[in-house]
Amino acid sequence: MFFQRTLRKEISCVGIGLHSGARVRLVLKPAPADHGIKLQRIEQGRVLTTIPALSAYVVDTSLATTLGHGAFSIGTVEHLLSALSGLGVDNVLIEVHGPEVPIMDGSAKPFVYLIKTAGIRRLVEPKSYLRMTGTVTVADGDKWARLGPQPPSSETSLSIISHISFDHPMIGFQSFNFSFSDAVYDRQISRARTFGFLQEVEWLKSRNLARGGSLDNAIVLDEYSILNENGLRFPDEFARHKILDCFGDIALMGLPVIGVLEANKTGHALNHKLVEAVLANQEAWEKVTAAEWVDGSLPPFTVPRLVMGEGSA
Ligand SMILES: [Zn+2]
Repeated sequence: MFFQRTLRKEISCVGIGLHSGARVRLVLKPAPADHGIKLQRIEQGRVLTTIPALSAYVVDTSLATTLGHGAFSIGTVEHLLSALSGLGVDNVLIEVHGPEVPIMDGSAKPFVYLIKTAGIRRLVEPKSYLRMTGTVTVADGDKWARLGPQPPSSETSLSIISHISFDHPMIGFQSFNFSFSDAVYDRQISRARTFGFLQEVEWLKSRNLARGGSLDNAIVLDEYSILNENGLRFPDEFARHKILDCFGDIALMGLPVIGVLEANKTGHALNHKLVEAVLANQEAWEKVTAAEWVDGSLPPFTVPRLVMGEGSA
């Protein structure tokens, strides 16, 4: 049986906001079962708004994924949500003392480190999943994404296959096939950094965006090469980062997904469109809880995966 998870204790860090350039304090707090993941925007000790990490609260997907409620928003949530989802953490209260989640090194690894340092606590309530029973596809020109059922014989709950294609000598065509487990997420996906092209970065900066962006928190490419002195962390770091983003964006379904996701050249906007299309098409999925599998009635996949750091309360 798989149980819901939260953190063992509160933990915090400070980093720079990618778009605002602001110095932002981030606090992760344990939360009870069925609380879900919620973000609080805090300014000068005052809670401005509390936003559930759910697709219905997405207000912008143009540069990063932004959640909003009332007059306030919280930007760049996807890498942190990716890390929480990657480690199977279901319940946490996230305080963001500024306009956006800090970018850290442009990957999800610093958040993975933070969560592991706090420790993961297993709760007594069983975990629920969104299990795909049909296929949902969205497209925008030559970009498309498809989420369908996981074959019953599969050894993993979620597979993500991502293809990207950039007319750039350092990227070209890349494909990465990810079979989810928290250990594989940590090793193969979490360290992959976000990337941008110098021209784009200059354009963003001229519009007072990407103010916190630097070679410390993104891979930056000019016309021919990578500007970061130490190069890449993986030869296919770009495709891996797309999976990291995808994972964070589909976490906004509110439940971990059992299915197969194939994505071609997608970004936050199309990922969000896919999530909305799946949630709107209730014929294509069912909610299952781990308690039901004990009877052997709904075996979702063959091998238990969620083991890292799991200890009873
Ligand atoms: Zn990203």
